[in-house]
Amino acid sequence: MLATGSERLERMRDGRVVYIGAERVDDVTAHPAFRNGARTIAALYDLKADPAKRDLFSYEDHGDRIGLQWLRCRTRDDLARRMRAMKAIADATFGLIGRSPDHVAGLITGLAMRPELLNELHAGFGDNLIRFYDRARKNDLYLSFAVTPPSGIRDREIYTGVVRDDPTLQVVAEDDSGVIVSGMKMLATGAIFGDEVYIGNLTAIDDKRQGESITAVIPNNAPGVSFWAREPYERHAREEADYPLSYRFDENDAVLVCDRVKIPWERVFLHNNGAWSRRIYIETPANVYQNQQSNIRFWAKMGLVVGLASRMCEANGVAKVPAVRETLGRLAALEATIAGLVAGQIEACENWPDGFVTPNRRMVYAALNWCQEHHTEIIDTLRTLAGAAPLQMPASIDLFADPELKNRFERWWGTASMPATARYKLYKLVWDLIGSEFAGRHMLYEKFYAGNSIIVRNQSDREAPWDRFHGIVDGLLGALPPADA
Ligand SMILES: Cc1cc2nc3c(=O)[nH]c(=O)nc-3n(C[C@H](O)[C@H](O)[C@H](O)COP(=O)(O)OP(=O)(O)OC[C@H]3O[C@@H](n4cnc5c(N)ncnc54)[C@H](O)[C@@H]3O)c2cc1C
Repeated sequence: MLATGSERLERMRDGRVVYIGAERVDDVTAHPAFRNGARTIAALYDLKADPAKRDLFSYEDHGDRIGLQWLRCRTRDDLARRMRAMKAIADATFGLIGRSPDHVAGLITGLAMRPELLNELHAGFGDNLIRFYDRARKNDLYLSFAVTPPSGIRDREIYTGVVRDDPTLQVVAEDDSGVIVSGMKMLATGAIFGDEVYIGNLTAIDDKRQGESITAVIPNNAPGVSFWAREPYERHAREEADYPLSYRFDENDAVLVCDRVKIPWERVFLHNNGAWSRRIYIETPANVYQNQQSNIRFWAKMGLVVGLASRMCEANGVAKVPAVRETLGRLAALEATIAGLVAGQIEACENWPDGFVTPNRRMVYAALNWCQEHHTEIIDTLRTLAGAAPLQMPASIDLFADPELKNRFERWWGTASMPATARYKLYKLVWDLIGSEFAGRHMLYEKFYAGNSIIVRNQSDREAPWDRFHGIVDGLLGALPPADA
C-alpha cells in the first residue's frame, strides 16, 4: 500500500530518540529544527499516493499498489519506468533530498534479486531479507542507512595504549533470539524522518573485524537506539524567503548510536563475515540500484542549477553578454550530459540471473564519478555568475513589516528587468545553494555520499573490461612490423 503524508508523519512520532546537542527532541514533526523537513518527506508520500499519478509512481502486485522504487526490473521498460518515478521524486525536491525514500529501497530491492547468495553465506538469512523486502515494499517504508564506520578511528594501531572503548558498531553478544550491538555508525542521512535504519558496511572490512560485519535493520525507536543530529539548518531559517532551501529541504544527517540494542535473528541478513559484508552489494544488483537514484537525483539538481544561473543572469542584466551565454551554454551541456548518462544506463542495461535486469553498471559508476568530480566546479560557476548580488540583499524579509523600509527597498533594489521583491527571493535562493550552511553541507554530500573518490573510482576500476582494452593495444602492437625487421 502507498502510505500517505499524514500516515508518514504519524510514524515519525514513535518515540525515537533524537538529540540536537544536549536537547532531546520529543517529536520531530513539531520541533522547529525539523518540522518542515518532516513535511517535505510527507509531501513526497502524498505525491506518490495521488490517484492521478498512480501509474507514474507505482506498479500492481496481487491487487496491491507498490512504489516503483521496489520494482525488481525484468525489462528495459521496467527500468525506464522505475527511472521516471525516481526522477519525479527528485524533481519534487529539486534534487536536494539525497536519501529520499527511494534510495535505500534500491539497495534492499537489489539484494532481493539474489537472496540465495545471503542464504549460501548463512542459511536462512536470504529468507530474512526477502521477508523484510516484502514488508518494506508493502508498507512503503522509509529506510535510511548507516553503513560507514566513524571517521578518525579507522587506524586502530594509533590507539594502542589509549584507554577508550572501540566505538565502531559491532556485535557484543548473541544468543538464540538474536544479537546485541553497541557502538556508532555514520552518517544516517534522513534517519530522523525514517522508519528503520539499515546497518552494514559499504566500505570493505577484513575478517579480523567479524563483529562489525553485522548487516541488519533496526526500527528507529528500538530501545538503545539514538540519533545524534548535526546542526539543523532549518532552525536558523526563521522566514522561508530568507533561506528557502534550508527552511524546507534539510534532510539532516545523524550519527547512529546503539547502546546494547537487541536485533532479533529475523532482522539479520549477514553476520560474522567481514569479507562478504561489502561484496554482497556488488555480487547482487544492490549497489547499482541504490546508486542509480543518486545519478537521477543529480540530474534533477542540475535542472535547478541551470535554471537558476540563467534567471540570475537575467536579473543581473548580463544574460545577453556573449561570454555569459557561453557559460550558460556550458552549464546546459552539463545538464544534458547527466541526462544522457542516465538514459544510456537503461539503453545498455545488463541481464542478471533469474531474468532480472539492471542499469549498466559501468555507466552508473561513471556517472557517480562524473557528479563527484563536477559538483564543486558547477556550484563555483554559479558563484562566479552571482558576483556580490546575493549579499546586497538585506538580512531578512521582516523589513517588509516596516512600510518606510519596504518602500525604500522596493524603489532602490528593483532593476529594469526585475522588481525588488522578486530579486530578493531569487538571490536568497542563490545564496542557499552557493553560500549558506545548507549549501556547504551539500558540497560535502556530493563529494562523499557514495564514499570518497578512491572508493567511487574503485567501482569503475573493478568493472572495467581490462581484457578488451588490453586487446586493443595488443592488436595494434601486433600489427606493427617486428622491431628487428
Ligand atoms: C552529507 C553527508 C551525508 C552522508 N550520508 C551518509 C548516509 O546516509 N549513510 C552512510 O552510511 N554514510 C553517509 N555519509 C558518510 C559517507 O559514507 C562518508 O563520508 C564516506 O564514506 C567517506 O568517508 P569519510 O567521510 O570518513 O572520509 P574518508 O574516507 O576518511 O576520506 C576523507 C579523505 O581522506 C583521504 N583519504 C582517505 N582514504 C584514503 C586513502 N586510502 N588513500 C588516500 N587518501 C585517502 C582523501 O582525501 C579523502 O577524500 C555521508 C557523508 C556526508 C558528508
